[in-house]
Amino acid sequence: MAEESSLLRRDGSEIGFVPTMGALHEGHISLIKKAASQCDSVVASIFVNPIQFGPKEDLAKYPRKIREDKEKLASAGCTILFLPSVEDMYRERMTSVHVSGITEKLCGVSRPGHFDGVATVVAKLFNIVRPDRAYFGEKDFQQLAVIKKMNEDLNFRIKIVSCPTVREKDGLAMSSRNAYLSKDERRRAPEIYRTLRMGAKMLKDGATPVKVREELKMRIEMIEGSRTDYLEILDEENLGEIRASTKRARIFSAVYMGSTRLIDNVGVKLR
Ligand code: AMP
Repeated sequence: MAEESSLLRRDGSEIGFVPTMGALHEGHISLIKKAASQCDSVVASIFVNPIQFGPKEDLAKYPRKIREDKEKLASAGCTILFLPSVEDMYRERMTSVHVSGITEKLCGVSRPGHFDGVATVVAKLFNIVRPDRAYFGEKDFQQLAVIKKMNEDLNFRIKIVSCPTVREKDGLAMSSRNAYLSKDERRRAPEIYRTLRMGAKMLKDGATPVKVREELKMRIEMIEGSRTDYLEILDEENLGEIRASTKRARIFSAVYMGSTRLIDNVGVKLR
């Protein structure tokens, strides 16, 4: 793979990289298309990374659709697909990458060890593929922040490009996990995004983050079959508390619809 990457890198030409876990949808494809529009070649990886799943999470049932994925990648402008096996990537007593600080909140609390798994696999993929640019979705906003920090702290010198969340027509953020929702859950799920948008408007109109958080939690709990894992309003820049100096806030949610955990987030310009 590293050899193939260096073959692609002729006279300053740029390699874009899009890491994924497959079961590709329009959200993933938007990353590939952006990479294709900005780079000379595009490498995508599909790897359902076991070390970012907790022992009680959905590793075994995570959707796998390699044949369809290959077709979608080719027609979106992907040049090379990297499809490693678990044995290719890991051995016993692996070195692990831990990004400190920003991993201690939100999904870092609900999913202990998750971001170590993400940082470790992405560090390995960055070293294998050696891209100039790598593309990540705002859908996983905390993950994007973790990768940016790792990239700076460990001097990868890759340009990290963030890409807006792609949504279904009714507002539900596209996710491979949406396939787990029952018909009824799928019908109710867009209510989460509607509620986050309402919160964004309240913040813009001057309501305090504490008040907005309370109101949103109450509204989300009212959606039939839902349970809030977290609902937080943080400074988008550093994922810290909102301060008088905060320019942009972000509302983060993780909500169970039945047994499916859905995450989403919405940004708000405060000043
Ligand atoms: P995953 O396959 O879930 O690991 O996601 C691979 C990449 O696609 C990550 O950078 C995600 O943030 C991004 N992604 C997933 N869903 C969406 C979406 N709805 N819109 C934009 N990017 C997304």
